[in-house]
This record gives sequence, C-alpha cells and structure tokens, in this order.
Amino acid sequence: MDKFSVLKRFFGHTSFREGQAELIDAMVGGRDVLGVMPTGGGKSVCYQVPAMLFSGVTLVISPLISLMKDQVASLKRAGIPAAFINSSLTPRQLTLVFERAAQGQYRIIYVAPERLETEGFRRWAKQAEISLLAVDEAHCISQWGQDFRPGYLKIADFIDILPKRPVVAAFTATATDLVRQDIEERLRLCDPLRVVTGFDRPNLFFDVIRPKNKVDALLQLLISRREQSGIVYCATRSSVEQICHLLCDHGISATRYHAGLEDEERRTNQEDFQFDRKRVMVATNAFGMGIDKSNVGFVIHYQMPKSLESYYQEAGRAGRDGEKADCILLYTSADEKTARFLIENRNSEDLNAEQQEQVRLADYERLRAMICYCRTESCLRGQLLSYFGQAHPQNCGNCGNCHRKVRRVDATKITQMILSCIMRIKEKIGYYVGKTLVAQVLHGSENKRVLALGLEQIPTYGILQEQPLRRIRFLMDLLETEGYLRVEPQHETLRPGQAAPAVLRGDRKVELLVRVRSKSENETALRQQQKRKVPEHGALYEALRAVRLEIAQKERVPAYVVFSNATLADMAKKVPRTLSEFLEVSGVGEIKAARYGAFFLAAIAAYDENR
Ligand code: ADP
Ligand code: MG
Repeated sequence: MDKFSVLKRFFGHTSFREGQAELIDAMVGGRDVLGVMPTGGGKSVCYQVPAMLFSGVTLVISPLISLMKDQVASLKRAGIPAAFINSSLTPRQLTLVFERAAQGQYRIIYVAPERLETEGFRRWAKQAEISLLAVDEAHCISQWGQDFRPGYLKIADFIDILPKRPVVAAFTATATDLVRQDIEERLRLCDPLRVVTGFDRPNLFFDVIRPKNKVDALLQLLISRREQSGIVYCATRSSVEQICHLLCDHGISATRYHAGLEDEERRTNQEDFQFDRKRVMVATNAFGMGIDKSNVGFVIHYQMPKSLESYYQEAGRAGRDGEKADCILLYTSADEKTARFLIENRNSEDLNAEQQEQVRLADYERLRAMICYCRTESCLRGQLLSYFGQAHPQNCGNCGNCHRKVRRVDATKITQMILSCIMRIKEKIGYYVGKTLVAQVLHGSENKRVLALGLEQIPTYGILQEQPLRRIRFLMDLLETEGYLRVEPQHETLRPGQAAPAVLRGDRKVELLVRVRSKSENETALRQQQKRKVPEHGALYEALRAVRLEIAQKERVPAYVVFSNATLADMAKKVPRTLSEFLEVSGVGEIKAARYGAFFLAAIAAYDENR
C-alpha cells in the first residue's frame, strides 16, 4: 500500500493538504520531521498515515487524556487498531493493553508523557518494534511555549533507552522560532525535515470590539447570529457561569464548559453543543482541544486570552468547514488585570523556581503581543500573521480594522507632556509609578496619593486638566502600543519607550490612528453579518444528521467520530445511491463505508421516495 491508498482507504480523503505528503514521505524514508501547521491544518493524518506503512508500531505522545480516547475511538472506526495508555485505565485494562501490544496487535498507541518513565512501560518498549515516535502538541516541551509540560522533557531520554532509534516526528501549531528551536533541541531531532505551512485562514473574519458595555455587545452579537452555532470564551470559570446564566435568561440556547464541572456534566454539555441541541457554548479554554465540530459560525472572546497563540487556536475553531465565520474579541483594559492575575497565579507546582520565573517572563512577553492586537488600528489579520512569522499584504480587506474608518491625529505635543510628566515624577520621588498615578497628576487630581507624594508641586501637574482621566489612560495605551511608552510587566510601572528621546527632542512627530467611533461599536460586525447569507443545508442533510445521531448514540461516541459535518455536507451534495458512490464521499473510508453505508443509503432512498 502507498500513502494515497492509506489516505483513501482509512480516512476517506482523496488528496493531501499542504505539507502532509512531504512530511509523510520524509518519515517513511526514515527521516525525522518537524511539522508546523495551524489548528485544523491536519496534523494527525501526518503521523497516522505512516503508522499504516511501517512494520512496527507508532507511539504518539499526546498531552490530553480526554483527546486520546476520542482519537482512538475514531481510528478504530476507520479500521486502524489503536489503543491508549494513560492514568484513566484500570490495572486490569492496562495489563490487557500491554499483552495485546506485545502481540503486535496495534498500529498506533497513544501515551501520556509521564508514562514514559514508568518501569512497566519501559520494559514493554525495550522489546517492542517501535518504528515511529510522534510527539503531538510538541510545544509542550518548551518553557517558552504556552503549555509547558515537564513530562515532555523526558521524551529524549526515553528514546535513548530503546534498542533501535525510531523515526521521531514533532507537530505543533506554535510559531515562534524560539519554541521551534527548543523542540528540535530537546527532542534531539536528527537533521529533521522542517515544514511550516501557511497560517492564514482566509474564511475567518477577525474583529476587536471595545464596547462600553460588554454584556450589551455580546447580546447584540448573539442575537444577530440567531441561525449560527458558536463558542463564547471567557477567562475564568466564574465568568462562564455568569454569562451562561445571562444568555439563558435572554432566551439564547446556551450551555457551559469548564474544568470545575463534573465529568458527566462536561460530557453532556459538550455533546449538546456537538449535536446542535444547544446553539452556544460558553466555556473557558478547557473547551475545544480536539473539537471537530465543523459548523462553528463564530468564536467570541468575552475576555482577552493571555497570548496570541491561545487566541489563534481558540478562534481557529470557527469555520473549519471552510464557510465564512467570525472571530470577535470584546476588549476592555480591565481584561489586562485578569490576564496578569492568571499569569501570577498559574499553577506551576511541578516546575522549579528558575523554570517558574522563565515561564512567567515568557507569559508577560506573550501578553504584550496580545494587548497590542487588541489596541491596534492596523490590519488584524496582518498582526496575527506577522506574529506567526508570515509575510502578508498591508490590508487584508476582511477584518474589522480594514473595514473601519480611522483618523490620523498629531499627538506630538501631548506625548511630550506625558513623557515629561513621567520623568518629573521620577526626579521628584526617585522611582517610576503606574499609569493611573501619572494620569492623575496630568489631570490635576487632588487624590490622597498624589498629595502624599507631593506631586502637586511638579510643573506638569494639571497640564491636561481639560482631558478626562479615561481619555488620558486610553492615550497612554495607544502610545505604549506604538513604543513611545513602555510598561514594565512585573510592577506595571510606566517608563519612556524606545522612541521617547527623539520625541522629547522634537525630532520625531507622533501620529496616531484613532477609531472614528460609530454610533454603535458593533456596527461593522453587524453589517458584515447582514451581508452574509447563512448557509442552509436542506432536508437531506438533516436526514443524514439524524442517522449519524442515531449511530453515535448507539455506539456512545461523539458524532464526529462517526462522520464529520464536512463529510455529511459532501454526502448531501453528492447524494450517493450505491456503495461505490458512497465511497466517493470525502471522509468515507472503506471500513466506515462497510460499517455505516447501509444506514445512510437507506436514508437517501427514503428521501428519494418522499420527494
Ligand atoms: P490539527 O491537529 O492540525 O488541528 P486535525 O488533524 O484534527 O488538525 O485535522 C483537522 C480536520 O481536517 C479533521 O476533520 C480531518 O479529518 C481533516 N483533514 C485532515 N487531513 C485532511 C485531508 N487530506 N483532506 C481532507 N480533510 C482532512
Ligand atoms: Mg491535533
């Protein structure tokens, strides 16, 4: 068998996506690889196809236990013998898996990184024929990555104890060079083939809205998307609870998901969303890894996430089917406080002090880029692609900022005032202070702290009396984004930025882009929405979905394990009437065709009769 027949026979796809074929050829030829693709890009196929071409077994290191189970269920249904080894197995189940593995019954075994250190697993691994070791979510190995997992550091040592070194393959959606280098070094990849595919998702519309009232903005967005299913991400469990209640109170069909819920409820809620019994999922970032619901029409962030990596991953769950979809972030500067709090209180018990410090600094660095995205007036897609190291045109024409009217204002004088105030304060008291205090001094507040420090005596006191405090803060935010001001992350003290000296000398003009506020901040997004037809799938699609639901319930698996929405949509389009026509549908492999074909063909026959 070659890679094309494996793809068709087991996965039902007729062609490879960008990057897949090259990576597979390299692995099959015995070369290590590093594959960097965006969320939804199709990384799993890259190691699942070679797994069927090698004589030995493929080990997949994966960080998420919940994901392993669904992946293995999917593989089994596609006719690929697979298993997982993690802490959710009982000792008896574990023994059984090892027995079968020793008999060479599996092609693919998923394993949690922590498992690699255990005696039982090592004993098995030393005598097994392991052809390929695939590291999924490989950024977890890097302290600079957004989900550092110390267990990943043990992978290279594990490889060393094996009698024969397998091909090692690493996959991630993380884009920073630092993390990629870290992955290569720490996994000790040998002359790997590096493939970085494009990160652009042209069907996604990006926008950042800065509403006065987030609740109103959210309701407006959801009401104008009545026909669509989507996700609302919140930063904390308590805001998930609050928002979910609020939506339900307003008659919006919503459910919730976060790590504080019982397993049972999480599962039910996820399925309600997956099966379209509930239209909106309100969730923390615990929801989504491995979600393959292809008809997600929007992803709204009620709060800013802590990095652009997280944002792009979460937003990327919209529009996997290639239909137009919206990714909207609701931003207020209060979000920064929440993000800082989350960074300071990150659970990192398993890291030593030095590692913790590194992680924290890297977190702040990522947060800064995230904040810039929220505040910028330039092309949002451009910002994202630059961050992921990809060239792009100046304006994409398909994001909120490209559609919005902006005004250029000369802010040289006011910037000079702010800078000089910062420096006068430093002169007076010997240290830098935060934005709020600087703004109060400029505004001339008779605040207790201002008076206690004697700041009412400095020359810039009250120099911006006529400007409201809120406006001064906003300006500072903009100036920070543009590099005229700098906020030191740990103590949030405001300092002159790199470009400051030139401005103070009068050698450099400060031009800022400012949003022309429309009557409602949501207007662009709304207009976008109205222009767009909501896709209607029609009666046959609904009938096929009912068949899938019935099968999924009978087999107790999520619907996408049976067939993805994209597959159902293609089926509704091609209307197969024989088994061989059924095999032509994208996403239908031989095993699934044999297993499920009759049910779907029967539904199609019934549909033909009733027409
Ligand atoms: P990633 O892990 O990169 O986020 P997945 O491996 O979960 O992405 O794949 C995302 C979706 O793309 C899945 O629904 C998968 O079936 C589909 N897919 C992957 N490769 C192909 C292909 N060559 N042709 C069609 N669909 C594909
Ligand atoms: Mg994946």
